[in-house]
Amino acid sequence: MKTNVKPRPTIFMIFGGTGDLAARKLIPALFNLFLEKYMPKEFAIIGLGRTSYSDESFIKTLLEGVNKYSRSGKADKDKWKEFSSHISYLTSDVNDEKDYKKMSDFIEKCENEWSEPPVIIHYLAVDPKFFPIIASNLAKVKLADNTDRTRIVVEKPFGHDLASAKELNILLKSIFDETQIYRIDHYLGKETVQNMLAFRFANALFEPIWNRNYIEHVQISVTEDIGVEDRGGYYDGSGALRDMVQNHILQVLCLVAMEPPVNFDAEEIRNRKVDVLRAMRPFANEEIRFNTVRGQYGDGWVQGEKVEGYREETGVDPESNTETFAALKFFIDNWRWQNVPFYVRTGKRMHQKSSIISIQFKDVPHLIFPSQSSESWQQNRLIISIQPEMSIRLQVQAKRPGLDMTLNPVDMVFNYDGTYENDTPEAYETLLLDAMKGDQTLFMRGDQVETAWDLLMPVLENWESRKSISFPNYSSDSWGPETAEALIAKDGFHWFTLPIKKGEKK
Ligand code: NAP
Repeated sequence: MKTNVKPRPTIFMIFGGTGDLAARKLIPALFNLFLEKYMPKEFAIIGLGRTSYSDESFIKTLLEGVNKYSRSGKADKDKWKEFSSHISYLTSDVNDEKDYKKMSDFIEKCENEWSEPPVIIHYLAVDPKFFPIIASNLAKVKLADNTDRTRIVVEKPFGHDLASAKELNILLKSIFDETQIYRIDHYLGKETVQNMLAFRFANALFEPIWNRNYIEHVQISVTEDIGVEDRGGYYDGSGALRDMVQNHILQVLCLVAMEPPVNFDAEEIRNRKVDVLRAMRPFANEEIRFNTVRGQYGDGWVQGEKVEGYREETGVDPESNTETFAALKFFIDNWRWQNVPFYVRTGKRMHQKSSIISIQFKDVPHLIFPSQSSESWQQNRLIISIQPEMSIRLQVQAKRPGLDMTLNPVDMVFNYDGTYENDTPEAYETLLLDAMKGDQTLFMRGDQVETAWDLLMPVLENWESRKSISFPNYSSDSWGPETAEALIAKDGFHWFTLPIKKGEKK
């Protein structure tokens, strides 16, 4: 990981510069990097799209996005003026080869005028169906072949299944070197997710007990309280397994389960992560119904308002078989994790928005306290909350103050809010800066993506081949289908949730 390297002069070519991702995430992130003086002195941001804009009108729409979505709030007028002097717009169609000539002319001009040859980042914030044509056209105008300076950032989803991911990898690798390809999973840019590496490998305390001898089970739960909103059309062709499990959740699982890397090098860390995916036990067809649960939300009430079920959402097939909830039980077949279940779940329109990793330790080998002392007994648990709360809690047993020997669980809490004064950067800030610096640690390597698809293909195929007769099987604002509770309850556990704090939405 190139922690303190200052980025070289950089050109961002944003394909899909007029789209939602650019307005909500990319431009606010670049502006915040500029405000915090991480941008190089020489940089250019080129928005690309078919919509007709002048530079001025394009910049005006971006400012609206920054004012609305940036974590630093409304843009300071002078700072925005300075930042936006680096932005221009090129009307272009990804299918039109001639438009790539305009891009290469622009780049050539910068190369001639700037103090050193810039890094060129082609950011693909467009529908994945355009990834191949963009990559091929970039190659035709020789905007791909400088392995040291040219990079391509590929948004999710990377493939729709194993075959399409392989196909895309083959195409990209025929044009770019793997060191030029940045497959983004914005979850990996989140502070708390990155902190997993620090927490596990910068402390001597946890590693000795981070294994099957002390850990009973692990849960990763990523729940959203919103439905598909205006993404119904996209989501209906995707589903929870593809949208959340194949990428974000498996990446987080890898960070929990990986072996200690030898150093902080991108390749070393990615090797250790891919080792986890390779060790994960494949799903046998006959086990799928015991170890997986799918769900789809029905209508319900959220905060006093009636909300529609998934099948009534705009863009969704009224008889859709797409899952908006998935829960799975995984095993990792290696020495560290043999027979430790890893439960994961994700869903939309759930009771609470939260992303939590919960690691439950085995019980004490012998209980010396009388049963009346330990009525609220709870095995030790480590809870890493990724969002909205950013915290790490260690749940331990303690004696309640008083004359009796009564035990109850208490939390030792490290909370980002109370510990650090600085605002934490958005995931996209971290990832865009890393792309500028040429650090691939937090990006997915081609083999990682394929191995993750490979693991899930039996489940995807099984679910697609059998239409669910029970959909919708959970109501909005619930914790998902009852069978998801059963998945974990049959092993004697229950899904862990953090209490909703005062002032939070619910
Ligand atoms: P979007 O709002 O629909 O934007 C699509 C962009 O593609 C627009 O800028 C559009 O520009 C451009 N485009 C479409 N056809 C084009 C063509 N023939 N030539 C040139 N440009 C064309 O989509 P989005 O939400 O920004 O998502 C973009 C990508 O990011 C997708 O892969 C998505 O899965 C991924 N992503 C998005 C989010 C998010 O929060 N939005 C989050 C994670 C991942 P014109 O109409 O001006 O041509």
